[in-house]
Amino acid sequence: MVRESLLKDRTILVVSALGGITDILLSAGELAAAGNEAYKEKLQTVEHRHLETVRSLIPLTRQSSILSQVKQRCNEIEDICNGVYLLNECSPRTRDKIVSYGELLSSMIIAARFETSGTENIFKDSRDLIVTNSQFGAAAVDFPLTNKKALDYFTTATASLFVMPGFIAADPQGITTTLGRGGSDYTAAILAAAVDATTLEIWTDVSGMMTADPPAGVQYQAHPRISYQEAMELSHFGAKVIYPPTIQPVMAKGIPVWIKNTFAPRDPGTVIQYDSVHNGGSIGVFPVSERSPS
Ligand code: ASP
Ligand code: MG
Repeated sequence: MVRESLLKDRTILVVSALGGITDILLSAGELAAAGNEAYKEKLQTVEHRHLETVRSLIPLTRQSSILSQVKQRCNEIEDICNGVYLLNECSPRTRDKIVSYGELLSSMIIAARFETSGTENIFKDSRDLIVTNSQFGAAAVDFPLTNKKALDYFTTATASLFVMPGFIAADPQGITTTLGRGGSDYTAAILAAAVDATTLEIWTDVSGMMTADPPAGVQYQAHPRISYQEAMELSHFGAKVIYPPTIQPVMAKGIPVWIKNTFAPRDPGTVIQYDSVHNGGSIGVFPVSERSPS
C-alpha cells in the first residue's frame, strides 16, 4: 500500500540529551534531596557542557541569544534543585521536570545551529503534542490524542525542518512527564507513526543491530536487514541499540527503521522493515556529539 506522508519532503529531527547529561541531572536531583550540596557542582557541569556545545557549534557573532537562553534554562534547573534541597525530597514528578532539561537544552541548541547556518526550522516542544498519563518516569502515551494533536499540528505548520526534544511529554494537565530511559527513540517513532513518515532513522553510536553470538574469532556484524519481530526480540534481550517500545508504533504503520552510526555514517547500518512502500519525508533521532550514552 502506498500511503501519502503528511511529512512529504519534510523532516522532524528528534534530539536526545548530550551524552551523560540525563544521568548527571538525575544525580543532581538525588544529591539535592539528600541535602548534599554537591548537586551544585553537577549543575555547573550541566551548564558548562551546554555552553561549550554552543561555542563549538555556533559562530561567535551569533552566540549571544542562544547562550542567554541556555543560561536561563540552567537557572531554572538550579531553582528547582534549590527547592528540592530545601524540602529534602524529589518526587517522581519533580525528577521528570529536572531531567526534561537535558533534551530541552540539546534540542534548543541544535535548532539554533540550523538557524544560524541558514537552515530555517521550527523548534517545537514535544510536550505540546505528546500526551501521556501521569506515571512519571515511564509515562504511557495516549495514542488517540497524541496522533490527533500531531496530525493537526503538522497539517498546518509550514517548515521543511522541525526540531523537537525527545524523551519528554506532558500529562493531560500539561505537567512534564518522560517516556522511560532511552525514550527519545520512542518519541521519534510515535511522531513517525502519527504522520505516516516514509522512514524513521535512528542515529546512534553503533553501526546497526548486531548478530548475537558470532562464532569464536569472528567480529560482531550488523544485520543489514531484519524484521520488526527480530528487532523487538533483540532489543528486549539486551541489545541496547533501540528502546524496545520504539518498534510498536512504526511496525503498526509498516514504516522502515534505519539504525545508523553517527560516528561512521557510511556504514550501511540495519534496516528494520517488512515490505511496504511509502512516499514522503523522513524523521530522525539525533544524539548530540559525544559517544557516551545520554
Ligand atoms: N536522555 C534520555 C536518556 O538518557 C533519553 C534518550 O537518550 O533517549 O534516557
Ligand atoms: Mg538513545
